[in-house]
Amino acid sequence: MTSPSSERDRPRKAVLICSECSHQSPPDGDWEVRREASTDVYECPDCSTEITRRPADRDRLERLFDVSTTATSLWNQSVEAVQQRLLP
Ligand SMILES: [Zn+2]
Repeated sequence: MTSPSSERDRPRKAVLICSECSHQSPPDGDWEVRREASTDVYECPDCSTEITRRPADRDRLERLFDVSTTATSLWNQSVEAVQQRLLP
């Protein structure tokens, strides 16, 4: 008879583990999340060790970038149109 203990120990979900105190929690667990300009910094709630960083609000930043790019190209197009009308 075999007892596959490794199968029972296999975690069902990915967990982040603190390298300092071995605190374990899933990415959406009890980590302290500190927001920086474009990054979410995950810190251990027990010893404040930085666990990982993830890009934050990336969709919003990309949307802002798209909008400004579109506005710039529209502006360039209208400037060209005016120049073509003014030039002989
Ligand atoms: Zn820790």
